[in-house]
Amino acid sequence: MQQTITLLGATGTIGVNTLKVIDRHPEQFKIFALSGHRQFHRLAQQCIRYQPSYAVVLDNKIGAQLSALLVDGNCPTEVLVGAQALCDVASDPSVDSVMAAIVGSAGLRSTMAAVRSGKKVLLANKESLVMAGTLFMQAVVDSEAILLPIDSEHNAIFQCLPTYYSSDHRGGVSKLLLSASGGPFRGWELAHMASVTPEQACAHPKWEMGQKISVDSATLMNKGLEVIEAGWLFAMSPENIDVVVHPQSIIHSLVQYLDGSVLAQLGYPDMRTPIAHALAWPERIESGVENLDLVALSQLDFEAPDQSNFPCLQIAYSAAKIGGDAPAVLNAANEIAVQAFLDRRIGFTEIASVVDNTLLAYKFNEPESLAAVEEADMIARGMAMARVKRIER
Ligand code: NDP
Ligand code: MG
Repeated sequence: MQQTITLLGATGTIGVNTLKVIDRHPEQFKIFALSGHRQFHRLAQQCIRYQPSYAVVLDNKIGAQLSALLVDGNCPTEVLVGAQALCDVASDPSVDSVMAAIVGSAGLRSTMAAVRSGKKVLLANKESLVMAGTLFMQAVVDSEAILLPIDSEHNAIFQCLPTYYSSDHRGGVSKLLLSASGGPFRGWELAHMASVTPEQACAHPKWEMGQKISVDSATLMNKGLEVIEAGWLFAMSPENIDVVVHPQSIIHSLVQYLDGSVLAQLGYPDMRTPIAHALAWPERIESGVENLDLVALSQLDFEAPDQSNFPCLQIAYSAAKIGGDAPAVLNAANEIAVQAFLDRRIGFTEIASVVDNTLLAYKFNEPESLAAVEEADMIARGMAMARVKRIER
C-alpha cells in the first residue's frame, strides 16, 4: 500500500536523505507536503520533481519567491506560509506519515500536531521531545500515534529491544548504551578548544549533518539531548542510560539485558539506514547503503566519554534529573549559545557556560501545556541572550 507523507524540513540533511530513500521506491511513497525555510531554490526543485500538494515556508517574502519559481517550473504545488500551515500539513487526514526533520524548537508545534493527529511520526527533531517530554509521550498514548526514532542511536535501540517492550514489560532490558563518535575534538583539552572556529566544529569526522547538530556533536550536547530523548522514548531513567564513545560510528547503540546479553545494531554511518527502517517499518526496504564489510573495518574501539573536557554531557544529565521544564531550558539556552558561536560572538567553550548559567538562574516548573513549555523556552532564551551579551568578544 502506498504511504502518503509530509516531509517537514525537506531542504535539510535529513530531508534530502529521506527523499534519496524514497527515490528508490517511488511506487511506495507519495509526497503530500514539503517544508523548508531559507533554501527556497532547493524547495522549488523538490516540488517540481515530487509534485506535492503543498509546500510550506515561514516567511511571506520567501513564499512569494517560491511561488514564482513554481509558476516558471509549471508546478501545480500550492504554497502555504506560516507556522499554522506546518501544523495543518502535518495533521491533514490524507497523510499517513510525517517525517519531523525541522531543526530545533521551531519543530515543536508541527511535530506535536503530527503526534496529536495519530500519525506514524518519524522523529528526527529530537529537540521537540526533549522540550516537551511528558506532554509529547502522553499525546502519543492518547492519539495512538506510532513513534519511530530516526536518530541513529535511538533507531538502533528500537531495533534491539523486544517487540513487546514497554515501561511495564521490559523483557529483561537492564540498560541502554548510547554510542557517541566523540565529535571532531575527541581527545582535546578544554583550553585548546577555546579558539576553535565554527568551520572546525562543523567538520564532523563521521556524519554529514546540519550546522546546529554538528556543533552539538562537537560539544557532546547532542549526546546529552539524546540521553533525554532515549529516556522518553524508552521510559528509562537517565541512570540506566550510559554513553560509550565509539569513534568509528559503526555500532549505533546497544541494549544490555539482565542475563549478560548485549544486542547492538551495526552499519555504516549513513542516515539512509534509520530513515529506510522507519519509512518501511515493520517491513524492510533497501536504502542504498552498502553492506558492512567487517573484515575491512577489522577494529572497533570504545572509550568512556571525557566529562571534564566536555561538560555539556553532564549538564544535560543534570537537567534530565531535575525534570519539569529543565530540559526545555537546557535546549533553549543551547540553541542561543550555538547560534552565538556560529555567529562568532562567543567562543566554543562558552557554549557550556551559557547553558549552565541559564540553568542555574532559572526557577523550574512542571509545564502543563505546550504554551507553558514555550514560555519556559522564551524565558530561557532571554536569559541565555543576556549571558551571551555579557561575555561577547
Ligand atoms: P538541517 O539544518 O540540515 O535542516 C533543518 C531543516 O529545518 C531545513 O529544512 C531548514 O530549512 C528547516 N528549518 C530551519 N529553521 C527553521 C524554522 N525556524 N522553521 C521551520 N523550518 C526550519 O538539519 P538536519 O537535517 O541535520 O537536522 C534536522 C533535525 O534532525 C534536527 O533536529 C537534528 O537534531 C535531527 N537529526 C539529524 C541528524 C543528521 O544526521 N543530520 C541525525 C539525527 C537527528 P532551510 O534549510 O530551507 O532553511
Ligand atoms: Mg544521533
